[in-house]
Amino acid sequence: MCFEIKERDLAGKIGILKTRRGNIETPYVMPVVNPIRNIIKPSELKSEFKLNMIITNSYIIFKHYGKEAKDVHEITGFDGIIMTDSGAYQLLVYGKIDVSNKEILEFQEKIKSDIGVILDIPTGGIIDRKNAEYTVMETLRRAKESISLRKDNTMLWAGPIQGGRFLDLIEMCAEKMGELDFHIHPLGSPTQIMENYDYSTLVDMIVIAKRKLPPERPFHLFGAGHPMMLSLAVALGCDLFDSAAYALFAKDGRYMTQNGTIRIENLKELPCCCPICNKYDIKYLMEINKNEREVLLAKHNLYVVIEEIKIIKEAIREGRLWELLEMRCRSHPRLYEGFKKILKYSKYLEEQDPIISKRGIFFYDYLSMNRPEVIRYKNRLEERYEKPENKEVLLLLPMPKSKPFNKSKIFKKAIKIVGENVHICFYGDPFGIIPSELAETFPLSQFESSLENIGIWKEDVKKFAKNYKEVIILGEKINGFKSIKNIDELKVKE
Ligand SMILES: [Zn+2]
Repeated sequence: MCFEIKERDLAGKIGILKTRRGNIETPYVMPVVNPIRNIIKPSELKSEFKLNMIITNSYIIFKHYGKEAKDVHEITGFDGIIMTDSGAYQLLVYGKIDVSNKEILEFQEKIKSDIGVILDIPTGGIIDRKNAEYTVMETLRRAKESISLRKDNTMLWAGPIQGGRFLDLIEMCAEKMGELDFHIHPLGSPTQIMENYDYSTLVDMIVIAKRKLPPERPFHLFGAGHPMMLSLAVALGCDLFDSAAYALFAKDGRYMTQNGTIRIENLKELPCCCPICNKYDIKYLMEINKNEREVLLAKHNLYVVIEEIKIIKEAIREGRLWELLEMRCRSHPRLYEGFKKILKYSKYLEEQDPIISKRGIFFYDYLSMNRPEVIRYKNRLEERYEKPENKEVLLLLPMPKSKPFNKSKIFKKAIKIVGENVHICFYGDPFGIIPSELAETFPLSQFESSLENIGIWKEDVKKFAKNYKEVIILGEKINGFKSIKNIDELKVKE
C-alpha cells in the first residue's frame, strides 16, 4: 500500500504517500518544473521552499535529450521525489506528439522517474461526444497495455481519468481504471474548466470520479494550483496537485493571494509576510527589471500556495475544513457556485466524514445546514431513534440560547410543570428536532450558530410528531398542533 490516511475531515484527508525516494504528506502541490529552464531553480525548491516532490515532463526531456537521456534527478538538479507527466498535455495543446505509449513508458522507467504517467488522451474541452468517447476508450486501452510493459516495480504509476464534461464518461472511465493496477489516479484535463472558472462542473467531475475509484488510492487534480480553490478540491477528496500557476502568474505580473489574484501594478502594499514580501516592498518590485520581478513574484506565489496547504492541513486536523471552505469560497462568485454544488453531494461528504469531530461546529447561513454532521444527525433521528415508552405527549420548546439545552431555565421550568410523562424536545435550525435526552451528545451542544429562523425545522417536526398522540408547541404555530405562547399556559390548564 503506497498511501496511508492519517486524518480525515469531510472527504478531505491528510495522508502519507510512500515512494522509493521517501514519503510525502498530502495534500501536496507539486511545482511544475521545466526540465530545461525555470524561474526558480529546482534545487532551490528543496533548499528554500522545503519541497520534496516536483513534477516535470518526460516528453520534453525525450525531445530535448533523446533516448539516451540520463536520470531525471540529474537533469533537473532535484534529488527529491519526481513525478513525470507523459506528454498528454502537449497532445492537448498541440494536437499531436511523436511518441508512443510504449516508448514514453519505457523512457520514464529509464530516466528513473519515481512516479510515471501513461500516455493518456486528454478529453480537454471536447464537446463532441464521439470524440470524447474515443479519448476515454483509448486512454483505458493504453492503461491496460501499460501494465504488461512495466519492468521496474519500485516505481509508482498514475492512471488518469478522462471524460471531460461528459460525466457519465468520467464515471465509466473511473470504474474501469480503478480495476487496473495503478497507484494514483489523476483527473485529466480539468484545466480549461478551471480557466473558465467553471467550479461547479469541476465539483461534479471530482465527485463522480472519486465515487468510482478505490478509496485507498490518492487522487490528483491535474493543473490546479491556485490557493483560492485548493480547500474546495481537498474537501472533495483531492490529495495531490501540480501547478505551474505560481510561475505563469508571475510572468504575467500577477500576485496571488488566498482570496484571488491582484495585478502587481495595482498594489500599494504587499499584503503578505513571506520572506519575499518581508524583504522587499512594492516600490522596489516596480523599480527592478521585469525578469527580476518575475522571479520574486513567482517565489511569493509559491509561498502563498504552500501556506494555504498548511492552513488546509490544520483545518483537517481541527475538523474545521467546512468553515475554511465557507470563507475561501466567498472569494469569487463562481467558486461559491462550486461550493453550492456540494449540496448535491452532501450524502457523499457525509459518508466520507469522520463520525467523531473534535471541536464544536459553526453555522453561518442555510449552506451550513448541509454540513455532514447535520445530514447524519437527521438521518439517524429518522431511521434509528425511538421515543421513550409511555410518553404520548410531545412538548416542543424553541432551542434555548444556552447549551446544553437540557440544562436551560426553560427546560427546567417546563419539566416542573408537565412532569416526567411528557416528552420534551427542542425545535429549530440547524438540527430540526433535539430530544432532551440527547441534548448533550455531540454535536448537539457543541455548535455556534448565527442562523436566522430559516424554518427548515418545520418539516422535521411534522415527521417527528407522527409518533405522538398530542403535540404542543411553544412559540410557533404549525397546522394541526396545539400552540402556546407561554409555558405557564400549561400550568393554568393542569
Ligand atoms: Zn509574499
